[in-house]
Amino acid sequence: MTIHRLPQTVAMRIAAGEVVERPISVVKELMENSLDAGSSRISVSVIQGGRLSIVVEDDGCGIPREDLPLAVERHATSKISSIEDLEAIATLGYRGEALASVAAVSRLDIRSRTNQEDSGVWLRMEGGGPPKVDEQNCRIGTRVQVDDLFFNLPARRKFLKSARAELRRITKVVQEFSVAYPSVAFILSSDGKKIYETQGGRDRVDVLKSLWGDEPEILTSSGARGPYSVTLWWQRISKVSRVSVMAFVNGRRVEDGTIRAAISSGETHPGGNWAVWVETPPDEVDVNVHPAKTEVLFRHGGDLFAAVRDGATSMKGRSLPDWESRQLL
Ligand code: ADP
Ligand code: MG
Repeated sequence: MTIHRLPQTVAMRIAAGEVVERPISVVKELMENSLDAGSSRISVSVIQGGRLSIVVEDDGCGIPREDLPLAVERHATSKISSIEDLEAIATLGYRGEALASVAAVSRLDIRSRTNQEDSGVWLRMEGGGPPKVDEQNCRIGTRVQVDDLFFNLPARRKFLKSARAELRRITKVVQEFSVAYPSVAFILSSDGKKIYETQGGRDRVDVLKSLWGDEPEILTSSGARGPYSVTLWWQRISKVSRVSVMAFVNGRRVEDGTIRAAISSGETHPGGNWAVWVETPPDEVDVNVHPAKTEVLFRHGGDLFAAVRDGATSMKGRSLPDWESRQLL
C-alpha cells in the first residue's frame, strides 16, 4: 500500500480513542473541567452506565459565548499558553483535548452561561461534525451531555463492558473526586436514581467516614520527605487481605505503583482501605505522561516511597496487631 494521509475525521477519531477509553474517561474529564471552573456543586447522571448518556452539570464560571466553539477544538484551552506553563500545572486540565475528543466520538450537547451574560449559549455536535451554536436560556454554569459514545467507532464500542461494570467504575471515580474535593457537593445518578451524594463544605475525613463507615476507626498520619508532604488515612479491616488504595497528588487522582508498594512494604499486613494525599511543588511531578493523566512521574520517587512507608509504618505500629495474631493461631 502506498502511504497516504488519513482523512482528518478518521485521524481525529483514532486520537480521540486515546483520551476517551470508556464512559468513565468522559465522566472524569468533564468533572475535571467542572472543578477547574471553580464549581461548588457537580452533578453526574448516567444512563446505562454511560453507554447511552452521560450528563455533567456544574455551577462553575461557565464558558463565554464567543469561546464555546473553540472549547470543542483540539488544542484549545484557557488553562495554559506556553511550554513553560507545563512545568507548573495548577489546573486538572491543560491540553485542550478532552472536549474535542469527546465531540469526535459522540453526540455532544453543551449549554453554558457565565455570570456576565443574561442568557446562555448552546452547542451541538455529532461525531466531530461542524458545531451548531444557538442562544439558550440556562443557569449560570455548564451542562455537558454526551450521548451514544463511540457510535461512530464500532471497534471501540465493542469493548465497552456491561452497564453495571461501567457504572461501578464511574461510581468509584465520583467517590474519589468527592474525597479529593470535600468542599464540593457531588451527586451521582444512574438511570434516574440518585446513588451517591456528598454535601460539600466538609472535611476529608467526614467524606471518608461516609464512604467507608466509621467502624473500624480511621487512623491517620502525616509527614514529609524531600519535596513531598504526605497524609495517609487507613481503615484497618482485620482479616481482610484486600488492600484498596485511592491516591491523590496535588489534587489529581493517580494510579501509582510507588505509593502502593510503600503501603505494602514491611511486615504488617496493610489490609483495608487507604487514602493517600500528596502535596508537592508542581515541578516535582510530571503529569504529562499518560493520555488519561492517571499515571504521573515523580522526580524524587525514592523520597515519596520513604514518606508513605514511614507514615504507613507508624500507623501499623499504633493499631492492634490482630491480623497477624489471627494468622498465627
Ligand atoms: P482543557 O481542560 O485541557 O483546557 P477541555 O477540552 O477539557 O480542555 O476544555 C476546553 C476548554 O473549555 C477549557 O479550557 C475551558 O476553558 C472550557 N471548559 C470546558 N468545560 C468547562 C466547564 N465545565 N466550565 C467552564 N469552562 C469549561
Ligand atoms: Mg479538560
